Amino acid sequence: MLSSAPPHPIHDPEHEHSNGCCADPAVLKSRVRGSYLGLAIGDALGATVEFMTPYEIRHQYHVHQEILGGGWLRLKKGQVTDDTTMALALGEAILATGEINASAIAAAFDAWMRAKPVDIGHTVRSGLMHYRRTGKTTAPEDEMSAGNGACMRCLPIAITTLGANEKAVRQASKIQAHITHNNPLSDAGTETVILMIQALFKGQTLNQQLHHYAHPLAAKYPQFYFRKRPCQNPSGFIGHTLRVVFDALFNTDSLEDCLVEAVNRGGDADTTGAIAGMLAGACYGETAIPQRWLKALDAKIQGACTAQAEQLLSLRNAASEVNWE
Ligand code: MG
Ligand code: MG
Repeated sequence: MLSSAPPHPIHDPEHEHSNGCCADPAVLKSRVRGSYLGLAIGDALGATVEFMTPYEIRHQYHVHQEILGGGWLRLKKGQVTDDTTMALALGEAILATGEINASAIAAAFDAWMRAKPVDIGHTVRSGLMHYRRTGKTTAPEDEMSAGNGACMRCLPIAITTLGANEKAVRQASKIQAHITHNNPLSDAGTETVILMIQALFKGQTLNQQLHHYAHPLAAKYPQFYFRKRPCQNPSGFIGHTLRVVFDALFNTDSLEDCLVEAVNRGGDADTTGAIAGMLAGACYGETAIPQRWLKALDAKIQGACTAQAEQLLSLRNAASEVNWE
């Protein structure tokens, strides 16, 4: 399945449902669809206040909690940004080839950039220019590329490798991440988010998530430490991004409150919203998404996200039966 996966067993049959996951198939589907919709909704919600400070948001909206469009990108209501459209490009490349193939993914990202997306991050652009110049699918290792651009688009990897062992999941994550972001901190954050999403798909509680993933990540890399002082006005640095996301996820008890908490911190709010949305959607499922947000989200994007969620899940189910044992 992974184009260069090691030949080790990746399922743990003792703890698995017949679909390779602890969750009932209908529950799993709701969590996977909820995660993809959460990504798009968090992106659309946060984009309105991207680069605003929490003070400016309070002054203008009191609490920002409606999908309105606008923002510095002057979006239409319900429109999403690079976070969602890059994830969709990644998912399309996986579906087209039936595997996590670096060349196919890099070509899909390049085609995405040629189509003039509404927004593109600096590290993503320079990584894709490097690919265009050299044909290489790994960007040069870079101390400065600990941005959140690889993490924001990671959801298709989480769905496709659900049930794989941790080593294979981390390897798959690096294949897509390193096309633009070749940095250990970006890797650690992105891989942790993928593993958290997968554990939520399987029914892990938020309390277990704290102890299994968030605390160990912060113990290893203090840049992710989120308990001391709330991170406000986060930059595109992965450490700031995940501090806001963890704070929002672990200090609320609904998808709506989690997303509202994340985006009202301002800064890179579309991306904190997108990542919080993936995790909260995986945790609470599709039915937890407020109807008013689903109604406001661009219908084409909504259809693309739910279709891709299901297709990636089917690909993963087929792969787990055929290739991965
Ligand atoms: Mg964006
Ligand atoms: Mg952003």
